Amino acid sequence: MTNRPALPPEIARRRTFAIISHPDAGKTTLTEKFLLYGGAIQMAGQVRAKGEARRTRSDFMQMEKDRGISVSASAMSFDFGKYRFNLVDTPGHSDFSEDTYRTLTAVDAAVMVIDGAKGVESQTRKLFEVCRLRDLPILTFCNKMDRESRDTFDIIDEIQENLAIDVTPASWPIGVGRDFIGCYDILRDRLELMDRADRNKVADSIQINGLDDPKLAQHVPADLLAKFRDEIEMAKALLPKLDPASVLNGSMTPIWFGSAMNSFGVKELMDGLATYGPEPQIQSAQPRNVAPEEIPVTGFVFKVQANMDPKHRDRVAFVRLASGHFERGMKLTHVRSKKQMAITNPVLFLAADRELAEEAWAGDIIGIPNHGQLRIGDTLTEGEAIRVTGIPSFAPELLQTCRAGDPMKAKHLEKALMQFAEEGAAKVFKPTFGSGFIVGVVGALQFEVLASRIELEYGLPVRFESSQFTSARWVAGDKIAVDAFVAANKQHIATDNDGDTVFLTRLQWDIDRVGRDYPAITLTATKEMM
Ligand code: GDP
Repeated sequence: MTNRPALPPEIARRRTFAIISHPDAGKTTLTEKFLLYGGAIQMAGQVRAKGEARRTRSDFMQMEKDRGISVSASAMSFDFGKYRFNLVDTPGHSDFSEDTYRTLTAVDAAVMVIDGAKGVESQTRKLFEVCRLRDLPILTFCNKMDRESRDTFDIIDEIQENLAIDVTPASWPIGVGRDFIGCYDILRDRLELMDRADRNKVADSIQINGLDDPKLAQHVPADLLAKFRDEIEMAKALLPKLDPASVLNGSMTPIWFGSAMNSFGVKELMDGLATYGPEPQIQSAQPRNVAPEEIPVTGFVFKVQANMDPKHRDRVAFVRLASGHFERGMKLTHVRSKKQMAITNPVLFLAADRELAEEAWAGDIIGIPNHGQLRIGDTLTEGEAIRVTGIPSFAPELLQTCRAGDPMKAKHLEKALMQFAEEGAAKVFKPTFGSGFIVGVVGALQFEVLASRIELEYGLPVRFESSQFTSARWVAGDKIAVDAFVAANKQHIATDNDGDTVFLTRLQWDIDRVGRDYPAITLTATKEMM
């Protein structure tokens, strides 16, 4: 990270990140405020466009509401000062899913939002662990400071202990709950005062000349000031100072305190992301890694979304550009099929609107409409046979049999299920014996989501029933060994949606038995998508 040449300015100004949080901590509100600042800056002088953008956004939210789950707004790009922010959305429901994991393979950093009254909650912890696997830099926003919240040291301690990461305060709250008046910006020696009357107003900043500046007393009531001085002294003595290199390697997180609803602290967080957040990073790939400054374009599909527009059965593949400067109309090689694809109508998700992407740079996310050629994990290059790695597919932890309410519609059901399998929303297994499909997911809620989407998008009522199997493992080995294994275990064999062989079972004992009886066979719980 440190000994690399400076990136071209267009790439260096990009910040590609996701927000991780527990439901209800304020991710949606914070996202809206990001867009407000991003959108406002971008649309300055275009007042008319603003109303339109708002309408698009709310239509979009209606769709999300109808689906009852955040499935869209997969990527949003906006400018902030001289920076281009690409915010990649993580699915909003509380079940941890592969989708979330894969989304995090497409970003260079994460903003962790916690509720000031609740601290680190379960979903935050799970998502954090995923970020840690890749040493992603994490910036923390402690939200809802306008309400009764926990002691500042408590919150910081909890993050340090629970997540085993150094925490450094970038700002310090003054007053609690109703008495909360704002924050001291430790990085810039400024006082930021919250305006409770106007939720969309950016806080007044008052430049302060160090903590002894008499100006502090003009703006902060005496009792709050005394407590604040004590706390900040203690914080300076006890907590680590911000070290940019430690932020970049993921071992330290700076924390800002604020209130997304009151637009308070959001701008400071965005400044923080611009200043301390990482530039587009090197992408691991085979046979060699890809650096963002390379001239040829490389990108990989981390998400596929079907039926974004119910009128067209289109799919959009979300591609993270890992290198180069992409221009509309470019011909890229689809490495898996070795075929060329002309990318004529790529989409960039600017603020609240979809727009044709005339160009994009390493770090950006573009959407490529297609008819199913592009799958999760696919790599696009300008010809070189590179395959981006690290986008796994997990063995599902829950299996159920799926049947169409109307048995005549089985073919229809197959089509719908394959579609969701391609999206990565579920694994679909077709058993060698027996009818029906076995659908595997990582979180139980996903069955409900699937059932409602199949009904909504295909007009097909379906039932999920318990299956005789509880685990799925991919079968690997040389062809002769696999054929012999399959022939001897037919009742347990299925093919997944990519045509790969899978061993279905209900007992760990079975899996262990295969290990003993078939030394030439490997059963795996993940398969790398290719
Ligand atoms: P998400 O589930 O993480 O996306 O959370 P939302 O953004 O939907 O927020 C959850 C609830 O908390 C909503 O009712 C918000 O209005 C509220 N909320 C968000 N930010 C703040 C804040 O800064 N202060 C207060 N008091 N409420 C907030």
